[in-house]
Amino acid sequence: MSTVTELDIATQAVSDPPRVIAPERATIFADRARRFAALAEGHALGDWLQLLGRITQAQHAALQVSPVPPVADFPAVEQARQHGMPPVLCANWPRDPIWRDALRQIVTALKADPSAPVREHCAVLTAMPPEALELLADKVLRNEFHGPDSRLLPYVAAALQVYWTVLAAALGAGAIPMLDVPGVCPCCGSLPVASVVRVAPEINNLRYLHCSLCNTEWHLVRAKCAACDATGKVGLRQLEGSSLANAAAMRAEICDDCKSYLKILYQDKALGGDPVADDLATLALDILVDAAGYSRAGPNLLLMPGDV
Ligand SMILES: [Zn+2]
Ligand SMILES: [Zn+2]
Repeated sequence: MSTVTELDIATQAVSDPPRVIAPERATIFADRARRFAALAEGHALGDWLQLLGRITQAQHAALQVSPVPPVADFPAVEQARQHGMPPVLCANWPRDPIWRDALRQIVTALKADPSAPVREHCAVLTAMPPEALELLADKVLRNEFHGPDSRLLPYVAAALQVYWTVLAAALGAGAIPMLDVPGVCPCCGSLPVASVVRVAPEINNLRYLHCSLCNTEWHLVRAKCAACDATGKVGLRQLEGSSLANAAAMRAEICDDCKSYLKILYQDKALGGDPVADDLATLALDILVDAAGYSRAGPNLLLMPGDV
């Protein structure tokens, strides 16, 4: 009997899907850049999606040369662990000025961009003193996306994504605990940008929420609201009769308990799909559910008010 029990435990240990998936430095932004380029083909917002692809490619290049910090040894990580908090909580993490190196690399990559407004934004960011850039970073991390500087925030957000993705990848899934609260990233405490129903061995058909900042993913059962944890009044909405390439793959999971929604990407309908890129290529779906009275439960940091 005990042999069977041990066998059961061993089998379960082998087959248990990962609760948390840390980002891969080599592929996370490169795959996203490719997805932006593919989604831009024939899209009404194709120029904008192509630009986002170029920003994402610059993120990839910046990430490849970012040093790997010994993040697990940082006192803040141990303090967070003792209090059951995300280990690199973005709200009070001692942000290293090195994030501005990523911003500098992104801005340098885009300074000769075909888009005149992008060249202008890059010139403004290049001339800004460090203190002003830190204030912009604080705005992004507080999800304050309005104001006269809002056009500059996607570039700052892109650099912060690189910095926090470095931290998440350096920590690894084993050092990122699951939280009692399903609606925030267990690595950095940010809100999810969307969720993904994965197609891959071991995690096939499982749903993971995707962090809007550090690209960590964490498991949440399907048909459960990420914002309020309720299951009773969750439904799906999708674009009907749309010519968008990913219209069938991206749906909005709405909750009538808290009147929020978050998009959900079905990878079996969009191989190569990416939660950030596919989200921005389906803004028509946001308009549809916004009009029905639902509020988005998490931001996409590459989208600022007035962008499109
Ligand atoms: Zn995160
Ligand atoms: Zn809800």
